[in-house]
Amino acid sequence: EGSLMRGKRGLIMGMANNHSIAWGIARACALQGAELAFAYQGEALEKRVKPLAESLGSDYLIPCDVGSDEDITKAFQNIADKWGTLDFVVHAIGWADKQYLRGRYVDTPREAFLTAMDISCFSFTAVAKEAAKLMPEGGSLLTLTYLGAERVMPHYNVMGIAKSALETSVKYMAADLGVDNIRVNGISAGPIKTLAASGIGDFRYILKWNQLNSPLQRNVSIDEVGGAGVYLLSDLSRGVTGEVHHVDCGYHIVGMKNPTAPDI
Ligand code: NAD
Repeated sequence: EGSLMRGKRGLIMGMANNHSIAWGIARACALQGAELAFAYQGEALEKRVKPLAESLGSDYLIPCDVGSDEDITKAFQNIADKWGTLDFVVHAIGWADKQYLRGRYVDTPREAFLTAMDISCFSFTAVAKEAAKLMPEGGSLLTLTYLGAERVMPHYNVMGIAKSALETSVKYMAADLGVDNIRVNGISAGPIKTLAASGIGDFRYILKWNQLNSPLQRNVSIDEVGGAGVYLLSDLSRGVTGEVHHVDCGYHIVGMKNPTAPDI
């Protein structure tokens, strides 16, 4: 516990349950004194999000499907009415039809490609545009990405392409919004067992592989992603923008399989 985020108000987008990366970041921010609002995808998730938000002292829940411009506009209007200004946003949202998170990327049809790009990449741009209007003195925008943006990972397929576009959008928006003291960064998290991850083919194997072959020889937790989130969302990182920060037990530096690891 501390006060690194005391006096800051933030919107958390993409919390589905207590395994969500968004929950790890929200909890870490709340422990540092942040005041939080939560945007959730739809009715079905409200009953899961509500008690989690309440446990962090928040009753501020906003429905928002990021596939809808109207929902996004309404969500930020709601924040403008209630809070007036905003200090940070966490965008922990990604989606692709799991039918295409296996097999060959080259077989992805246009419709599945466009939806993955829309929800997993464009939504951060649309959210950033609205959030920036509520940040007259600056702020911090954070998204979540994965190493599959940089290198080929089995089954990640169209999500890898969408995450590449997302990471590049972090850079372009950092350049656009820097003049307004709004910072834009990403966390590239190692594999974590969440609802979204369960759609990826052979995810258990990916988890095991990372555990055995990362320098720290384990997988990362949502609390560890939360710690990096506090850094990127608070004034600790006030000189940092356009960055994609790896929180993956060091796996991204590895060139070959750990020779001492057992076969899986
Ligand atoms: P999760 O299932 O807990 O969260 C994904 C969230 O996206 C859910 O809350 C879901 O409601 C939301 N979402 C999907 N479509 C939406 C829409 N149209 N409108 C609004 N919300 C929508 O899983 P997670 O693993 O915590 O995912 C959070 C982010 O972290 C994603 O961007 C994911 O790609 C990224 N990430 C995950 C891992 C991992 O291994 N779990 C690793 C690196 C990056």
